[in-house]
Amino acid sequence: MSTPSKPLRQPGLIVYLCGLGTSALALWLVQIANDNGENIMGWYANGIIPAGAFLVGIASGVGYAVGSRLLQVKLSKAFVLGMLTTAVVDYFAAHYLTYLSVLEVHHIPAERYGFIDYFREISEGMSFRDKYSKEPGSPLGMWGYFYKLLEIGGYAGGAMVPSAMVFGMPYCKGCQQYLKKHRTGHLHSLEQWSVVKKLKKKERLAALQAAIQALTARANEFMAPIAAAPLTETEGAIATLDQSIQKDAAARITFVLKKCPRCDAHHLDLNLTNFTVDKKVANTNVAKIDKTKVVESVEAVAA
Ligand SMILES: [Zn+2]
Repeated sequence: MSTPSKPLRQPGLIVYLCGLGTSALALWLVQIANDNGENIMGWYANGIIPAGAFLVGIASGVGYAVGSRLLQVKLSKAFVLGMLTTAVVDYFAAHYLTYLSVLEVHHIPAERYGFIDYFREISEGMSFRDKYSKEPGSPLGMWGYFYKLLEIGGYAGGAMVPSAMVFGMPYCKGCQQYLKKHRTGHLHSLEQWSVVKKLKKKERLAALQAAIQALTARANEFMAPIAAAPLTETEGAIATLDQSIQKDAAARITFVLKKCPRCDAHHLDLNLTNFTVDKKVANTNVAKIDKTKVVESVEAVAA
């Protein structure tokens, strides 16, 4: 506790290499598909959404996310910017490799057919296959660049998705560790679904709304004394909640306590699970209480 706050570990080179590894793998698979006549990067949804490039991007970005989670590295904003830049470079690198293989297959000297020529050709010559006749449509011309830009955007955007998920995970900056699930407890509505279910639609809706409202009020009441309390008190309070799920409750709020493996920094997630008027189940996160910062400020005062 007396150690001065050390500077945040830089997102390690290893995390970066993990990302490069999955990117290379994803783009290599795209290349194999290309050789077999399937242009995944050219898959568009509704003729405008670069779905294929987005999916390839997601696969490429997995390495950054898994690497940062396993190595307990919190990705900084600078790292995310670097990741985006790298994705754009990767995109062109993949095209460059394709270009080299075109030269090799057709025995063309590079002086006669430069990379720019190649890129112009695949952009301006790009066309959409007709859905019915399967015949290639007419070349897009200048519009081809617009679609290439969409592809790059889709690819880079997709590459950020896995990291964005890790980015939102609670983290203890002091110990440089992601928090782990420590304890859970449930607060159940008094209304039983087996009873509410039998009501007419309008009354069912009213009953569910009332149940959720009463449950939320109880959750707020429960949270008030522990919102800023230390870990032991928070743990004790969670222990007084129901430890198992009552399946017939019309609604429940689950309290998930996550804790730093090294210190008392913790985080509470409140998730509402309820039956809906259409007899389905809905899940909503109703609150996040981040107490990792509370602990930090106490440390700062002590130091
Ligand atoms: Zn910690």
